Amino acid sequence: MTSRVLVVFVDAFGARQIERLGTSLPSLTHHKALGGVLGYSSGALATVLTGKHPEDHGRMCLFTRAPEGGDRILKPLRVLGLLPRIIHERGRVRHLAGKAFARMAGLTGYVSLHRVPPEEFHWLDLPERDDIFNARELGGVPTFLTQARDAGLSVYAAPWQVEESRRWKNSIEVLSKDKPDLAFLYATVLDARLHEYGNRPDVVEETLAEIGAHVERARDAMGSDGADLTTYVVGDHGMADVSREVDPRRVVRRLGLRLFVDSTMLRMWGSGEELKRARREIELAGWPGKWLDSAALTERRAPVADAPYGDAFFLLEEGAIFVPSYVGGSVRGMHGYDISDFSARAALASDRPIPEGLVEIADLAPEVRRGLGIGP
Ligand SMILES: [Zn+2]
Repeated sequence: MTSRVLVVFVDAFGARQIERLGTSLPSLTHHKALGGVLGYSSGALATVLTGKHPEDHGRMCLFTRAPEGGDRILKPLRVLGLLPRIIHERGRVRHLAGKAFARMAGLTGYVSLHRVPPEEFHWLDLPERDDIFNARELGGVPTFLTQARDAGLSVYAAPWQVEESRRWKNSIEVLSKDKPDLAFLYATVLDARLHEYGNRPDVVEETLAEIGAHVERARDAMGSDGADLTTYVVGDHGMADVSREVDPRRVVRRLGLRLFVDSTMLRMWGSGEELKRARREIELAGWPGKWLDSAALTERRAPVADAPYGDAFFLLEEGAIFVPSYVGGSVRGMHGYDISDFSARAALASDRPIPEGLVEIADLAPEVRRGLGIGP
């Protein structure tokens, strides 16, 4: 009998969110919380697709420091600084500028400029330059999509660029018609709503019900000929309710370091002496959270060679966010905390018993390969 695998990636489907699944996803009776990775969705999605950690595939946050002698592709965006801030920080302006820039630079990956100050673009880089579902490799590591294609299997990956409801509609049409050996679908609506509303029970439940209905339709489409279908619905992390905002501006001015203000972490580059001073300043300011030096980052399997994401981080405690940061302002929900925090835990639901050894998001890719008969 033909074996097929359906993987549905649901952004922000975490350990806390799966508890509110109720009767959504009725066919997927096996549930488990999985360990996540340090960083944001770009890193966790890469881990789901490759089965490797950020230390291997190099993805963790949207922006890195451009490597020495690199091509500095973001530098032209400095021109945004010619506009008044009230204009260039507008979501719509940023969105259009990002789209135009991606086209000009020939990037097919996820490009979002958020609220990065224009004067910082010259030293920044985007690791995700290619369409993550069609790229052969992520940081030199193949995805299970690539491996399945190489093995001669038919593969469908939903176009993440297409608006969500249209993406589901298109995907289900393709799955009914082509019945690929492997399908990878993608939903971001839960993440978007939980950022906006926090973990409001009604929002979580309604959104999971919506997604569940789509997943059931996708299963029917892919298995209507009686093929042996395995389904996984997997998240990348959960979501914490925001309980505290930290204004980083005064401290950032005093630090005078090369740094990037992400929503939950301040990433810094500097000499040992500079970092020591920075740590003292932050401790004096009484920010809630912890300092992560290179050893602490290595322990969390973050990329540390050449420090693309920073020589040291200050990571906020769960529930705190920087406002304003280079990626946004006030929101009710956030992720990107320490890997031991509950909101860093992802969830997995399946129609088959989940093996005991599948304990973190990196363990799913080998399982998908096994299901397709292409793994060890
Ligand atoms: Zn998010």
